Amino acid sequence: NMKQRLLVVANRLPVSAVRRGEDSWSLEISAGGLVSALLGVKDVDAKWIGWAGVNVSDEVGQRALVRALAEKRCIPVFLDEEIVHQYYNGYCNNILWPLFHYLGLPQEDRLATTRNFESQFNAYKRANQMFADVVNQHYQEGDVVWCHDYHLMFLPKCLKEHNSKMKVGWFLHTPFPSSEIYRTLPSRSDLLRSVLAADLVGFHTYDYARHFVSACTRILGLEGTPEGVEDQGRLTRVAAFPIGIDSERFKRALDLPAVKKHVQELTQRFAGRKVMLGVDRLDMIKGIPQKILAFEKFLEENSDWRDKVVLLQIAVPTRTDVPEYQKLTSQVHEIVGRINGRFGTLSAVPIHHLDRSLDFHALCALYAVTDVALVTSLRDGMNLVSYEFVACQGSKKGVLILSEFAGAAQSLGAGAILVNPWNITEVAKSIEHALKMTSEEREKRHRHNYAHVTTHTAQDWAETFVSELNDTIVEAQLRT
Ligand code: UDP
Repeated sequence: NMKQRLLVVANRLPVSAVRRGEDSWSLEISAGGLVSALLGVKDVDAKWIGWAGVNVSDEVGQRALVRALAEKRCIPVFLDEEIVHQYYNGYCNNILWPLFHYLGLPQEDRLATTRNFESQFNAYKRANQMFADVVNQHYQEGDVVWCHDYHLMFLPKCLKEHNSKMKVGWFLHTPFPSSEIYRTLPSRSDLLRSVLAADLVGFHTYDYARHFVSACTRILGLEGTPEGVEDQGRLTRVAAFPIGIDSERFKRALDLPAVKKHVQELTQRFAGRKVMLGVDRLDMIKGIPQKILAFEKFLEENSDWRDKVVLLQIAVPTRTDVPEYQKLTSQVHEIVGRINGRFGTLSAVPIHHLDRSLDFHALCALYAVTDVALVTSLRDGMNLVSYEFVACQGSKKGVLILSEFAGAAQSLGAGAILVNPWNITEVAKSIEHALKMTSEEREKRHRHNYAHVTTHTAQDWAETFVSELNDTIVEAQLRT
């Protein structure tokens, strides 16, 4: 076998596991972007290492899960409930996630977070070491180890301490914030030093990469170069690798008879009205209240449009056990209720708000019938929904309204209408512009976006990262 082996390490394995008996598991593979990206990489033999999302405390269950996962090329890391609570819910989701998205903590959580910081950070380091132990068990000389996301910032250091020859890359799927924000993190230096142990460090955009290099120069006093960060002659390469989607998968879905039928049904149901679409996890970063308020302002100022447009908002529930997210949910429901009460009629309401997820085919059909997609993230690493919408618009050629604070604004800026989601006057004006846009302008904008989305695929992204990682190591060997 000539293929290079790739160990992909991420917090979650791309499967959901349900226990069926003492020693039996049923697995469902979740066909997300990352999975199809890595399946498509040429000349690479990929294996996944990560947490299966379930607590398995008995050895019989663990052994059975290892066996079942092996068939899907997955290797589990077993984390117990206490460590998941402190590492995942605590350090990752309550500290790093809000900080990296420029969100403040609610006042009442601030001191608690400050007080719990150390024990959560210790759990984070322990969890990262548990991932490292599994990688070390499965590593063979020559393998490439690709660590993913803010959950595993300590992993590169754990791996290199064990074996300095290991080829290690790390990629961040969220924004990396300005160093002025980042430097408030108590563990700021430890995390940076650990990430710098990797050979290659990747971000979605140049801005995020630049923020990271600034953090290293200002906080650690290291030298930033156009290539990356230097520490006593050793270079950590830092670069931007904007992710993409498997656009062919979306185009194929649109050709399926079932999806075509669904498209037809939706078209009939909303006949005579323009369809606007939002698809987001119900997270603070997505700016859902801002989006709905802007839509209200548009309806206020354009009374002739009130019965000619509908906003479909798919709000996928996330972290529903966290009070702040529950608060956001009821806040959104309240605004939606108010607007539908205000502008609805006996036969129609302006906003259809769904607290649920859709399956892939239903989502594709929705993307395809949409006239205007509305992405108003307050911060977003990339935002793949905007890419997926574009991929499904081959015939409709609808308009994308896109937050300038989403990473996607750097790649789809030429075709989308870029907005500041905090400025609802501007967003309302953009909705008007989008709905009234001439077909020439629509097609021209769509062409830009479509060309980008179909040529910068997830597969290219993964291939570029892996080959850059290999090159970086060859160059480092030439230097010494
Ligand atoms: N998605 C999904 N089911 C839904 C709605 C969305 O699987 O009902 C997927 C969507 O296709 C996209 C992902 O969720 O691939 C959202 O990715 P994005 O980068 O936009 O935001 P994130 O949720 O990662 O912050």
